[in-house]
Amino acid sequence: MILAETFPDILRTDVPLGLMTSFGIGGVARRFIQPRTIEELAVVVAQFNKSGTRFRILGGGTNLLIKSREITEPVVCLGKLRALSLDGERVRVEAGMPLGRLVTRCGREGLAGIEALAGIPGTLGGALMMNSGGRHGWIGEVVSEVTCVDAGGLTTLPAEKICFAYRDSGLRGRVVAAAELLLKRADAAGIAMRRGAVLAEKRRSQPLTAKSAGCVFRNPPGQYAGQLIEAAGFKGARVGGAMVSPLHANFIINTGGATADDVLRLIEKIREKILKNYNVLLELEIEIW
Ligand SMILES: Cc1cc2nc3c(=O)[nH]c(=O)nc-3n(C[C@H](O)[C@H](O)[C@H](O)COP(=O)(O)OP(=O)(O)OC[C@H]3O[C@@H](n4cnc5c(N)ncnc54)[C@H](O)[C@@H]3O)c2cc1C
Repeated sequence: MILAETFPDILRTDVPLGLMTSFGIGGVARRFIQPRTIEELAVVVAQFNKSGTRFRILGGGTNLLIKSREITEPVVCLGKLRALSLDGERVRVEAGMPLGRLVTRCGREGLAGIEALAGIPGTLGGALMMNSGGRHGWIGEVVSEVTCVDAGGLTTLPAEKICFAYRDSGLRGRVVAAAELLLKRADAAGIAMRRGAVLAEKRRSQPLTAKSAGCVFRNPPGQYAGQLIEAAGFKGARVGGAMVSPLHANFIINTGGATADDVLRLIEKIREKILKNYNVLLELEIEIW
């Protein structure tokens, strides 16, 4: 493979992906590439585009259920792209930056606007891709531009062209390399208090330390998937090692040794019953590889 000749030091083979996902479930990536810079990422993407090779992007693996035993497409992990620079209220940051670390750093710098995302795991790139957030705000609200890597190299998209929506963005299908956020100067102590309040609320209502991929289903219009699942009696329901969280019914947790099949069977049981009871077809929020 050309890639092995070009980048022997960023290519690994037969890498177990379960260890890299928050569910702790996953097969093996036959080829696993971890660029150290955006320039390396651009060359990797250019090579794949040139050879017509389909590839996958891995961020923090916190929104994924990997059911395949073997991922044959190359997996490009952006976890090493973490550079951050500040220019007044503008924060330029690479896609592999862990979101939690970004939230903490901005708060310390007295830059407000993303403390609402406290407690959401994963990377900035994954958060941008699905416009992560919650009842206090979404990442898309503070983005001024996003830099993507495509066949032609680096492209910068202004926020107004990205169409951020509920758990969705116009970035799907692209490779996000970096973004610029526009925050607001504020008192660091006040930001820390708001961040603490969001975290405390999340810890009370979500099983943050269990192995999961966050909310499994998208909220149907005007309803909460978790409320429907709870009302249908699923809290604590199990298939093998997979269990509906007793704390938040939209979370399925790996209680230890769960297989992707256990999780998928539980998902199907939930969907069937919610369709039967409420005539609502739940759509997945997590992604399945
Ligand atoms: C305990 C827990 C709590 C959570 N709470 C929330 C919450 O409150 N709100 C919320 O919105 N989400 C929540 N999530 C879900 C998840 O953390 C977010 O969706 C997160 O933003 C996913 O980022 P990631 O880097 O882990 O993406 P991954 O899981 O690695 O990838 C998800 C998708 O994004 C793509 N992707 C990732 N990075 C890039 C990139 N740079 N360029 C192109 N594509 C990319 C991947 O290919 C994949 O398609 C939670 C998850 C857990 C485990």
